[in-house]
Amino acid sequence: MSDLAAVPPQDVRLRAAEILRRLETLYPEAHTALHYRDPWQLLVATVLSAQTTDENVNKVTPVLFARWPTPEDLAHADPEEVEKVVYSTGYYRQKTKSIIGLARALVERFDGEVPADLDELVTLPGVGRKTASVVLAEAFHQPAIAVDTHVKRVANRLGLTASSDPVKIERDLKALFPRETWAGISMRFIRFGREYCDARKPRCYVCPLADLCPYPDKTPPPE
Ligand code: SF4
Repeated sequence: MSDLAAVPPQDVRLRAAEILRRLETLYPEAHTALHYRDPWQLLVATVLSAQTTDENVNKVTPVLFARWPTPEDLAHADPEEVEKVVYSTGYYRQKTKSIIGLARALVERFDGEVPADLDELVTLPGVGRKTASVVLAEAFHQPAIAVDTHVKRVANRLGLTASSDPVKIERDLKALFPRETWAGISMRFIRFGREYCDARKPRCYVCPLADLCPYPDKTPPPE
């Protein structure tokens, strides 16, 4: 996918710049809450984080990596043993299959090293564009924007995209924000989405971006 989209109108670009400025002030540090030591650990932790909290994953990964430290180790692990360790993250059968498959693919095709390349990352089993972008941005410090459900919702409500397609949203956000800020965009949008722009009941009445937000169904202050 090209990083280039049609040049957005100037008013949207100015609004986006102010949104980013405020989010950077609100969240000076924007990093994943997942604990990891290297790209391999972040990749596995991100796969495990589907449908659960980062806190849950952080309880499991120290045990997992103590027992199977490298892709080679996990590639040869007994799935039933792995299932017991990742059980509390939910969907444990599917997640076990994914991370063992991931480990095998890394060993077989990438010499046990996580590739720092989006097109290669998405060839790994269980790794979609979102997971790949998280790993690129966080572990490799590369310009990448991961679009999850929070980023999708916040970007739409703020009028920064009109799309529901994550690939198009990523393209629209990349067209609006300077490349050097891409790696921090997702985590800031995610935190903002959790703390203010909730899916069901956004806290518009205390939102620091309310004056920049065209969302028509803003939540009024409580009585
Ligand atoms: S005003 Fe409401 S809808 Fe708009 S960004 Fe803030 S919380 Fe979200």
